[in-house]
Amino acid sequence: MVSLAKRVQTLTPSTTLAITAKAKELKEQGIDVIGLGAGEPDFNTPENILEAATKSMYEGHTKYTPAGGLPALKKAIQDKLKRDQHLSYSPKEIIVGIGAKHLLYTLFQVILDEGDEVIIPTPYWVSYPEQVKLAQGLPVFLEAKEENQYKITPSQLEAAITEKSKALILNSPSNPTGMVYTKDELHALALICEKHNLLIISDEIYEKLLYGNAQHVSIAQLSDSLKKLTIIINGVSKSHSMTGWRIGFAAGDESIISAMTDLASHSTSNPVTTSQYAAMEAYNGPQDDVEVMRKAFEERLSVIFPKVEAIPGFRVLKPQGAFYLLPNVSEAAKRTGYETVDAFAEALLTEAKVAVIPGSGFGAPATIRLSYATSLELLEEAVKRIHEFVESKW
Ligand code: PLP
Repeated sequence: MVSLAKRVQTLTPSTTLAITAKAKELKEQGIDVIGLGAGEPDFNTPENILEAATKSMYEGHTKYTPAGGLPALKKAIQDKLKRDQHLSYSPKEIIVGIGAKHLLYTLFQVILDEGDEVIIPTPYWVSYPEQVKLAQGLPVFLEAKEENQYKITPSQLEAAITEKSKALILNSPSNPTGMVYTKDELHALALICEKHNLLIISDEIYEKLLYGNAQHVSIAQLSDSLKKLTIIINGVSKSHSMTGWRIGFAAGDESIISAMTDLASHSTSNPVTTSQYAAMEAYNGPQDDVEVMRKAFEERLSVIFPKVEAIPGFRVLKPQGAFYLLPNVSEAAKRTGYETVDAFAEALLTEAKVAVIPGSGFGAPATIRLSYATSLELLEEAVKRIHEFVESKW
């Protein structure tokens, strides 16, 4: 057997995908498990998008495209960024890729040398640290504390910067915390990034999923110099319920985008052509379905949030965006006889028959992540099961 390369020897599979697979396996054995692990909207892709994709195939658009995406899709993304963020980008400052995830991967490959540091606020989305390590970078974790609404503070950021710091990842609205940075908070962090010439990777994939009076501001909107220092990462997966189509984009400095495009030309050739036509319709067509889905998430949140809050030993902040709840359950785990939250989460799956993601995969080991991207009926049943499980063992 050939030995594996060093860079993959410490690679761990995505916790989210692993739990989802385990829940699926139990379901296939006929066990009635409710999955709250999903990281994707539970709606089908809107009809007009399906139609545009089908039409493109019958019109013969089934061949390679430019590596960085079709010019017409780049135009649709330019228009989207102008409409939503009031930002102007040229086509050379935009790359279309195979989902936000792969664009982040490509980005780290083109900006990091061995030992370069990337500052990652915790709780974080599972793939950030692994991707940084695969590019020989060093993830530097910055604990966004529960008492600070799971947001990092300017003094924390300043203290984490070294001469090796290359970039900061900001994810607002956040997976897994659901928190949204305000314009003032971003401004305070931006001053520090500018002072240290720190590249800002702004993952805005949950931009459209906002609740209450939360507003999405891209840090790139704050000034021209910040726009130059920021790479926006976004895509259609969460906004238009298009996770399986695998289309995302990055927008920012031309030299970085150009290197990413060159790398894509040798690694992916191009994002799937049909999916690009679908994404074109997603951005150019009517946006009503985006709002319909957002409203459904908001309604579910309003119903289940008080019920989750009422589970003994659960402490939870009300999310302002995305579709996750991240309760701190260390008290519940302790009182029900589990040494770790991981073991508690495992028991929720095997005994209460509810699949949740243990927060250890997000760098937040006192928490579990519950996704409310599932029907209200199932959500209510799942929360009831968890509540009863905790009470029965208390
Ligand atoms: N960024 C965050 C914070 C996510 O939660 C996800 C998906 O779960 C992604 C990026 C990746 O999205 P995509 O489907 O576009 O690759």
